[in-house]
Amino acid sequence: MTSIRQFWDEAIVPALIEYIRIPAKSPHFDRDWQKSGHIEAAVQLAARWCQAHALRGMTLEVVRLEGRTPVLFIEVPGNSQSTVLIYGHLDKQPEMSGWREGLGPWTPVIEQGRLYGRGGADDGYAVFSALCALKALQEQGRPHARCVALIECCEESGSYDLPAYLEALSSRIGKPDLVVGLDSGCGNYEQLWGTTSLRGLVNGVLSVEVLAEGVHSGDASGVVASSFRIARALLERLEDASTGMIRDQAFHAPIAPERVAQAKRAAEVLGEEIWRKFPFVPGMRPMHGELAELVLNRSWRPMLAVTGAEGLPPPANAGNVLRPKTELMLSLRLPPTVSADAAARRLKQVLEADPPYGARVRFEAGQAATGWHAPPSVSWLQSALDESSKKHFGKPVMWMGEGGTIPFMAMLGAKFPAAQFFITGVLGPHSNAHGPNEFLHLEYAQRLTACVAEVIAAHAQR
Ligand SMILES: [Zn+2]
Repeated sequence: MTSIRQFWDEAIVPALIEYIRIPAKSPHFDRDWQKSGHIEAAVQLAARWCQAHALRGMTLEVVRLEGRTPVLFIEVPGNSQSTVLIYGHLDKQPEMSGWREGLGPWTPVIEQGRLYGRGGADDGYAVFSALCALKALQEQGRPHARCVALIECCEESGSYDLPAYLEALSSRIGKPDLVVGLDSGCGNYEQLWGTTSLRGLVNGVLSVEVLAEGVHSGDASGVVASSFRIARALLERLEDASTGMIRDQAFHAPIAPERVAQAKRAAEVLGEEIWRKFPFVPGMRPMHGELAELVLNRSWRPMLAVTGAEGLPPPANAGNVLRPKTELMLSLRLPPTVSADAAARRLKQVLEADPPYGARVRFEAGQAATGWHAPPSVSWLQSALDESSKKHFGKPVMWMGEGGTIPFMAMLGAKFPAAQFFITGVLGPHSNAHGPNEFLHLEYAQRLTACVAEVIAAHAQR
């Protein structure tokens, strides 16, 4: 643990500081990513760093398929023929507003053991942490399997480049029997957290057109229906506005009793932090009074967010006009086991059927990513995780489903159905990936690195 700590302080933190400065926004948020060169700079930084801290026998390549974001591919030979696949990504979410005074997305700041800036926790730390874990094992002379790290640059855009790389690298990846994913979350910073599931996601644009051009609202209202009201009515088909529950059973999935029991345990351990970790305005309450229900809501239930709009001027510019159209960006999270493609088709049906007043209603689906549900963990993995958590945190491992989506996990789950999965991460309370004031909890990341090392060692001994 001391060598891991030291390596983090001396080698990893300086590299992450450099990495945070690079606005390596995912292609979805930087259409000109090839020209702007930031993704290239991030992958080069990681590649150079790995070369400078190369492990015994390690090979590294930045793999490039025509027109696609690059992948950093690392192979570390091991003491057995079995393979551990480690996953992370280097592309980032966009800036977002609301950063605290003195902080900013591309301004690395360390404050009270937290490294602030975009992408440090999601998910820049992963490649450095993985190499550090393997380095610790090599230094201690502990055996490990052959390890390959696959670090992509398209995750925040839905990993659409990944299937092609999985195909192209198939023989070099081999057949992993353990997948370590380092892009997930933790319920607190006091113990190791294993992710049991991820939600899926469908997003897309709902547009409601009522007029060829805007007209005086005093003249037209009462004759012409407001496009906003029609959009509200369409959303009401999908979601009960008073509870937030999604009405259509096609978007729901049964929840296994084991997952319900784990949600209860997580609720006991986390308490009100489950909702207090969010920056509620004073007086605002969570969506449910039962903590375990909140855990299940965010991991196993479909939920809608409207994430953008078009056709609405800002208030200062808004005249008394009956506007010609309203466009809303919808983001529907899905239970882990619901097919995203089927959900996208269903969403289109629900929204476009029988448009009120014959308005021109369209739903164009964007991203559709199916979630992931972990296969049952075998006993060596369960005990390795529990022991490493007790050793490095002094508390047992906890299990919880996560609300976010990592499309890669569904792809891997389908490609390697026999593999075991250890999906974990540093996205804990207030770390705010995707929002302002994102931070990496350095102490937690160090202990997590130590646990990853233990699990890879236990895998070799199993
Ligand atoms: Zn991520």
